[in-house]
Amino acid sequence: MATATLLTRRDALLGAACFFSVRAGAQNRAEEARAFVTEEVAPGIHIRRGVDEDLTTRNEDGIANIGFIVGRDAVAVMDPGGSLIDGRRLRATIRRTTQLPIKYVVMSHVHPDHVFGAPAFQNDNPEFVGHAGLPRALALRADYYRKRLEDALGRERAGGVVAPTRLVQSHAEIDLGGRVLTVTAHGLAHTDCDLSVLDRNTGTLLAADLLFVKRIPSLDGSLRGWLKELAALESVSARRAVPGHGPTSVDWPSGAKDLERYLGTLLRETKEAIRKGMDLEAAVGTVAQSERSRWALFDAYNGHNVTQAFKELEWEQ
Ligand SMILES: [Zn+2]
Repeated sequence: MATATLLTRRDALLGAACFFSVRAGAQNRAEEARAFVTEEVAPGIHIRRGVDEDLTTRNEDGIANIGFIVGRDAVAVMDPGGSLIDGRRLRATIRRTTQLPIKYVVMSHVHPDHVFGAPAFQNDNPEFVGHAGLPRALALRADYYRKRLEDALGRERAGGVVAPTRLVQSHAEIDLGGRVLTVTAHGLAHTDCDLSVLDRNTGTLLAADLLFVKRIPSLDGSLRGWLKELAALESVSARRAVPGHGPTSVDWPSGAKDLERYLGTLLRETKEAIRKGMDLEAAVGTVAQSERSRWALFDAYNGHNVTQAFKELEWEQ
């Protein structure tokens, strides 16, 4: 998600209009079925591709790749969606696919486009799985995120925070029956609370926002840390990965190359700008511009990324 991009006044007004409109149950159910298409990227792994946009009233924060994994006995969700309405649509899609209980909801990190749909799953009483750092990150950010979503979507559709009931310090296993998922808690990278999930049965790595493809990454943790965690993920034995944004599936590890190149360029050119004595504003205007044509939403995020990188690296000189 972007911290740099503000909602337009029109978006805010439309959000307010939604809040005051009363919707009948039948209409809600029709809406839940609308515009929610999943793709089975490997047997039993269903992923909805998020749109390459920032939050708007129209996209209802359905901007991240989210989905579910079906085992013999149970279902795991990852991630629960960007808003309550996004989560409800995901849940309706799961119920059209299987009646197995939803026992786990993995919340990959603090960003609302991934986890604010969690309340849609509360009545299923699943384990809500999060990084050991997630509660602190939510405590710091959730109120801001909720207000932003409510401004766009209205209070009844925005969703919110569900506290994780199972915290992962390093690794954990989730058994869906004949299918054991390995959950890994990563060091400071995209954020300070990133989880990835590996399904060994099919060799599928669900990388969430540790992997962006075609949509420019947003740096909200550590540039050096992200490069380190990405290198570790590239050595994971998987044939495909599901990015947090971009296509529903890419070959692995070759699918990491564009992100690795972008982050490497950001590191190299930011260090160079600092070495030359450039100030932050000048660095924002020059660093990583060779990447501009390669990524959706480049202009919305690159400046933010350079700012983050600059703050991280300026003390290293
Ligand atoms: Zn994110």
